[in-house]
Amino acid sequence: MKSTKRPKIAFFDFVGCEGCQLTVLDVLQDHVSLLDAFEVVQFREAMSDKGEDYEIAFVEGSCTRTSDEDRLYSIRERAQIVVALGACAHLGGVNAIRTGMDEESVRRYVYGEHAMLFDTNSVRPIKDVIPVDAYVPGCPIGREEFVTTVKVLLQGRIPILPDVPVCVECKMNENVCLYWMGMNCLGPVTRAGCGAICPANGVGCEGCRGLIPNPNLTSLKEVFSEHGFEEHVMEERMRLYLSYEARESE
Ligand code: SF4
Ligand code: SF4
Ligand code: SF4
Repeated sequence: MKSTKRPKIAFFDFVGCEGCQLTVLDVLQDHVSLLDAFEVVQFREAMSDKGEDYEIAFVEGSCTRTSDEDRLYSIRERAQIVVALGACAHLGGVNAIRTGMDEESVRRYVYGEHAMLFDTNSVRPIKDVIPVDAYVPGCPIGREEFVTTVKVLLQGRIPILPDVPVCVECKMNENVCLYWMGMNCLGPVTRAGCGAICPANGVGCEGCRGLIPNPNLTSLKEVFSEHGFEEHVMEERMRLYLSYEARESE
């Protein structure tokens, strides 16, 4: 992807709340000089142009419709680099709460008697539909992590995510562990990179950055139990962001 031309970048949205794209817009206001380094050719939330010639595609949202698959294939064909933007694209996100549930019942619950009119399918992170080159995790994405990702990509490199758990950052910040305050937290199995922002503010980690490689879920179950939490409490805490990934790692 090395070239003297400004690389062309496009943003695409699938099923999500669009909070990650909003974060990008917000970040670009503080890093206006970035706009000299690349050319945005498509970004529905910010412009009406729909350029189809791009090198880097940022994809927000999960794949939940059959029609999403064709759109993703087409993006993959055009882009040299595909980046999953945020937990929905990375993990299936909040949408994946229904992973493992009866699809037909969910469809009827949401759409009632008109369910058959809606093209919905099981929820998947985009890596399960097309090859993905890089990730910006989080719900929403971290502002500075997005900037770093763009800079690394513009240098022709692929950003590497930390593979240590949130607990490492939490300890480096000298936070008191929430387990010692009667709360629970998914920090031991969640990928670091957010600066342990939730535990630092007295809230247990929900796992929005996804699981570390080889997470020891058995050990985490023991930690929950040792601190007086029943198994279902851990399952419920993992449901928000990790329904899909935890099922895959079983
Ligand atoms: S990852 Fe979170 S903020 Fe981003 S689109 Fe999904 S729900 Fe919204
Ligand atoms: S509060 Fe959470 S992230 Fe921090 S040390 Fe305890 S388990 Fe780990
Ligand atoms: S502490 Fe956990 S839930 Fe909070 S931002 Fe970090 S990874 Fe996400």
